Amino acid sequence: MTTLPPGSTIGILGGGQLGKMLAIAAAQMGYRCHIYAPEENSIAAEVAAEFTCAPYDDVAALSAFADSCDVITYEFENVPVAPLRVIEAGTPIRPNIRALEIAQDRVEEKLFASRLGGKTAPFEIVGERQDASAAFERVGFPAILKTIRMGYDGKGQGRVGEPRDISEAWAQVGRQPSIAEAMIHFDAEFSVILTRGTNGEIRFWDSPRNRHEGGILAHSTLPAGPLIEDQQAEARKLAAAAAEELEYVGVMTMEFFATANGPLFNEMAPRVHNSGHWTIEGSATSQFENHIRAVCDLPLGATDLTADRVEMENLIGDDANDWERLFADDDANVHLYGKGAPSPGRKMGHVTRLYR
Ligand code: ADP
Ligand code: MG
Repeated sequence: MTTLPPGSTIGILGGGQLGKMLAIAAAQMGYRCHIYAPEENSIAAEVAAEFTCAPYDDVAALSAFADSCDVITYEFENVPVAPLRVIEAGTPIRPNIRALEIAQDRVEEKLFASRLGGKTAPFEIVGERQDASAAFERVGFPAILKTIRMGYDGKGQGRVGEPRDISEAWAQVGRQPSIAEAMIHFDAEFSVILTRGTNGEIRFWDSPRNRHEGGILAHSTLPAGPLIEDQQAEARKLAAAAAEELEYVGVMTMEFFATANGPLFNEMAPRVHNSGHWTIEGSATSQFENHIRAVCDLPLGATDLTADRVEMENLIGDDANDWERLFADDDANVHLYGKGAPSPGRKMGHVTRLYR
């Protein structure tokens, strides 16, 4: 792999806020981005050099897109992999398709983490409604039903406190192949965010403590505190092993529960992650810049904290209506994604505050 010089074109599959922030970072470094997304109103396309609006399984459109790009990456992890295999021969895809394939499937990702020595919550596969009762009896109550594919921000999940909740949970997940997962008593949640270069070098950011509300990330804080700091090394070991096994290039995130028995792997994202948004102001190099650096085969940037304490707050739904007050706050680094009218549970922006 030769380094892609500034002026090269980076293709990004997915047109949301992660793509937007990647494109902004790339533009600052002198690269062009070409966004590929099925939605007409792509907020990433608004800040990119080129935009292709087409479905993810349109091989002709994907091939034309690939021809215009020097490297392809993604900000959305539910891109179907089969069409990508067609374009991969001509244009490198980073992170590679294997990473995407594992992260798309909750069962695959848990088995993958277990094979590498990670601990996961006990779970059972529920292929059909009739499997559910036995599966929940085996994992115990309370538990959660989660779709195997396409879940995000707590969507595709149903809580099961007792056996009579199963039917409602099955309806909540849309009657799709799912897993029954034991409810974990965790002390805190955290993520490991790393970037890996084409030469195999790995750099980690400090792990944030993450608080979720209704399955959606609400808040990330650094330093994460002693409880998480004690578990960070073990969690990093798993994340590094996964990145090496996958010959991963770019930013990868793993979410963990900090429990009395150490870090429990929850899920992985083969991409920049909401729990890394604080790195824009809170780190010497942001996750977005380091992702672009990695996929272009540039040297990775330093990941040191720029403040004693960093707080990232998500603006979900109507939170974004508070923009006047936020812009008037000297300590607030305000990011609004430009999605238009807020709807409940929708990620509209975030605010980062640094404390020295
Ligand atoms: P998503 O793909 O929607 O992010 P997650 O599996 O990460 O799905 O679940 C979202 C959030 O729901 C988690 O961050 C955590 O707060 C809570 N959660 C998920 N699984 C469990 C579990 N087994 N026990 C306790 N809480 C859980
Ligand atoms: Mg999650």
